Amino acid sequence: MIQNSQDLFKRAQRVIPGGVNSPVRAFRAVGGNPIFMASAKGPYLYDEDNNQYLDFINSWGPMILGHACENVEKAVQDALGNSFSFGAPTRREVEMAELIISMVPSVEKVRMVNSGTEATMSAVRVARGYTGKDKIIKFEGCYHGHGDSFLISAGSGAITLGVPDSPGVTKGVAQDTITVPYNNLEAVKIALEANKGQVAAIILEPVVGNMGLVPPVRGFLPGLRDLCDQEGIVLIFDEVMTGFRLAKGGAQELYNVMPDLTTLGKIIGGGLPVGAYGGRKEIMDCVAPAGPVYQAGTLSGNPIAMAAGYAMLTYLNEHPEVYPYLDNLTSKMVEGMRENLTQLNLDYTINQVGSMFSIFFTSDPVTDFDSAKQSDLALFGQYFNSMLRQGIYLAPSQFETLFVSIALTDKLADQYIAANLAALHEIHQL
Ligand code: PMP
Repeated sequence: MIQNSQDLFKRAQRVIPGGVNSPVRAFRAVGGNPIFMASAKGPYLYDEDNNQYLDFINSWGPMILGHACENVEKAVQDALGNSFSFGAPTRREVEMAELIISMVPSVEKVRMVNSGTEATMSAVRVARGYTGKDKIIKFEGCYHGHGDSFLISAGSGAITLGVPDSPGVTKGVAQDTITVPYNNLEAVKIALEANKGQVAAIILEPVVGNMGLVPPVRGFLPGLRDLCDQEGIVLIFDEVMTGFRLAKGGAQELYNVMPDLTTLGKIIGGGLPVGAYGGRKEIMDCVAPAGPVYQAGTLSGNPIAMAAGYAMLTYLNEHPEVYPYLDNLTSKMVEGMRENLTQLNLDYTINQVGSMFSIFFTSDPVTDFDSAKQSDLALFGQYFNSMLRQGIYLAPSQFETLFVSIALTDKLADQYIAANLAALHEIHQL
């Protein structure tokens, strides 16, 4: 029974474009209507009809400690007593910046913003201001939020809806964004040669979550670092998904490649709307009021959001055992899924890095956007709906990663593997 969700969606469509406040929530890629959530605790979501779901979206990443975890909840409650926003500096902002800098190896100074989109837009502006150059290189299928410069071969909801080049983005903006295939250093070299002396920044997800989960091939990240050093280009790692998730210090720690700037989001707000960008002092000192590159925000560093994020990051900083726990549990699920495929004589691709993973409905390796697009999207839709009927809430698109939280137990991982087997049976009518 999802009657209340159905009723709410009808009302929502009358007053909100498409009935949702962010496109991928609309379930358009998988058929059916979105489920409206009412509450969540630990590994579970509860919808408006009181159905329970085991959650593998985890608010698209930030709920790494599970829903409504006590330390974050308490920090928010404590902060509420001091009012909700001052528009003046606070102690927590200093402590938050110090903590981020101590955890993320390449970050020497950091500025808080309100979303991942703001973080990437601002980082690119700073890179342009710092280098005095206009163009950026991004990778096909990577998503960096909905800033104009990035909606060129964008990933995530933009792929799902089939509008990689959004109307409303001007030709002028588009011509300053060069897109190349992910994991292809040769293509980057060719693009740099063709745009000699004009490229301010190369921006990428060091591990991609937005075309499904796609890891960098060996040598790709260090190769980009070398090219940026040779050409005086700012290397930006968009760690909005991977930051504080793949390791305390994100993908840059895991792969030991240091970007010049890093964009962060999601986990640093503990579920509240927060983003940040940071990096080398010399570059960050270009930002106003220290320097001439303008960037501001009335609610930036909001005290409630800072309280939530600080509690979240403090927990992760003090509990490094979180990472092997998440990695092992995710590996267990991936191994279980692979055994299911073998048992059923099926051959699909599963990618995993740490606590992020995706099953692609193609038998070929998935290393970039073109190979991700080989997936059978209709089959993914059937799979998604079968899992949903079994109470497992997956991202409603082939081109998204799944996220694991520490609220997931060994027993729940077994439940997931069993549901995966049943779903594969069902969609192949085995
Ligand atoms: N960068 C990456 C890598 C993302 O995954 C996202 C959002 N999923 C963003 C930027 C944009 O963040 P937000 O939705 O908070 O604006």
